[in-house]
Amino acid sequence: MPIDPKFQKNRKKVGKEADITIWGPVDPPEILGIRGTYVAVDWDICTGCGICLEVCPQQLYEWVETSNHPVSEKKAFPTREPDCVQCYKCETKCPAQAIRIEFMPTDYQGSTGWLFSLVAILSLLQPIVGIIYGVWFGPFLGIQPLLYVGWVILPVGLFFLFSIVIYFKRDGKPGEGKGLMDTTVLVDSGTYAIVRHPMALGGILLMIASILISQHWLVAIVGVIVSALSYRTQVKLEKGLLVKFGDDYKRYMEKVPRMNLLLGIIRLLKRKLLSNR
Ligand code: SF4
Ligand code: SF4
Repeated sequence: MPIDPKFQKNRKKVGKEADITIWGPVDPPEILGIRGTYVAVDWDICTGCGICLEVCPQQLYEWVETSNHPVSEKKAFPTREPDCVQCYKCETKCPAQAIRIEFMPTDYQGSTGWLFSLVAILSLLQPIVGIIYGVWFGPFLGIQPLLYVGWVILPVGLFFLFSIVIYFKRDGKPGEGKGLMDTTVLVDSGTYAIVRHPMALGGILLMIASILISQHWLVAIVGVIVSALSYRTQVKLEKGLLVKFGDDYKRYMEKVPRMNLLLGIIRLLKRKLLSNR
């Protein structure tokens, strides 16, 4: 029997080992439970074959002795769980189907996780507050043309932000019972053919729209800082994507700009023209 895909619902946390959560029931030496939450290994079915240790590009597994366990005397332990880049190599190659990889929330991703969370919260709040201010009180500086530009940018930002729902679902092939972010293939269609991070670009466009609609200095300061942090976050995330998708991602990087919308549209049109010749 493979690892229970709903183990987070069906089992209880019974403790931690080297900061890695243990999901019960546990009754050693025969019953050992599951180690890890986002990189979860069911020790009661792990045969200790070592394939996960071989294939993991992050070398996050380590051996742990489990004397007298009926299946095997050593188990794969996800020691460096926060380093996982969700490449699914271990999950797909494990012959015992003992591994379950789940999309990792940003606050779990090591020491800079809090920064990811802060950027996510502020990039949501800044547009809401700025737009409500602009609608309620009118633009602070009263420059009408900027207000109109803001209203034009707003739907574009919303489209890029939510395009992830269309393209990740359609082309990302998330595993069975998994969330939208658990893509198993590189998505390079739709808005992903224009820029590599349409969701982040959408967020930045919304913040620009919010600045133009409110024309308030405080909204502008927060918007500029959060946009810069959001850009920096995408640069950091790409290191993981390079590990996850390897050469395919390198080729994608050469073809599609990170977040430069104008350059992305020009390059997309060029590719379309060349393919029509
Ligand atoms: S690949 Fe699966 S069975 Fe083999 S050591 Fe890793 S978790 Fe255990
Ligand atoms: S999904 Fe990839 S990075 Fe994560 S533990 Fe498995 S092999 Fe390692």
